[in-house]
Amino acid sequence: MEQLKLKLKEQGFKLTPQRRCIVKIMLTSKGKHLSSEEIYDEVKNECPEIGLATVYRTLQMLDKIGFTNKLNLDDGCLRYELNLDQDAHNHHHLVCKKCGKIIEVEEDLLDHLETKIESNYNFKIYDHDVKFYGICSECK
Ligand SMILES: [Zn+2]
Ligand SMILES: [Zn+2]
Ligand SMILES: [Zn+2]
Repeated sequence: MEQLKLKLKEQGFKLTPQRRCIVKIMLTSKGKHLSSEEIYDEVKNECPEIGLATVYRTLQMLDKIGFTNKLNLDDGCLRYELNLDQDAHNHHHLVCKKCGKIIEVEEDLLDHLETKIESNYNFKIYDHDVKFYGICSECK
């Protein structure tokens, strides 16, 4: 939270109590990939006076300064997760076609592919957004 506060200050943003509340929910729901509406529902419990517009605006702000990953699973909503280590590559997501569960793959595993692309295309890779679609162990 303190690290985030400093970063926000550098970028000219303040960590208001409402923004702090949103960030707190995102920190505690790590790995859940909540949509903005779901974040709003959680935040409302702690901070009842907050409006959906504030949640949208805060998520946009966090995204602009690179503190979130946006996850689009083509299900009509954007999901957000905090990305505090901005030098690290994004983790991958496994999406179950049957129950819709999202599983995180923490390992990058793409070093070989990245090196190949970088040399073959003379292209510097900063990050990637990889989703695998399939059937999870419970649905199998
Ligand atoms: Zn990578
Ligand atoms: Zn499943
Ligand atoms: Zn994730």
